[in-house]
Amino acid sequence: MAARPKPLPPEDALLSRADFKLFVFQRAGGKCIFCSRPAADAHHVLERKLFPDGGYYSGNGAAVCDLHHWQCETTELSVERVREAAGISRPVLPPGFEADLQYDKWGNVLRADGLRQAGPLRDDDGMRRALTTGRVISLLVYAP
Ligand SMILES: [Zn+2]
Repeated sequence: MAARPKPLPPEDALLSRADFKLFVFQRAGGKCIFCSRPAADAHHVLERKLFPDGGYYSGNGAAVCDLHHWQCETTELSVERVREAAGISRPVLPPGFEADLQYDKWGNVLRADGLRQAGPLRDDDGMRRALTTGRVISLLVYAP
């Protein structure tokens, strides 16, 4: 007998790591939000290292397959597209982030000129590797 689904928590409720995965998968019916293959991971829409509390909010999570998870990490799929596909209506932002700015997954600001202003993870190796793989590392600027 299948377990009854629990009611989804509010998007801004901080969850345990286990509940984060449970509810993010449940909201997507266990499928990748982009291709309907079985979900493999609960992706952090904005990198968890940007959040002092770990960022395990259902409003910061998306169920994805391996392929689409990779495309989220490399920023080929934008934060806005992920939220839309996941049905997230009230994005959860790390402290100091502004609702009227656009960010990539790693917290770099997407500027109007197409460049990316390096954010709090400016020296993070994972961020640099992901943007290199996504072929957008040359867009990253460190000067104001
Ligand atoms: Zn997929």
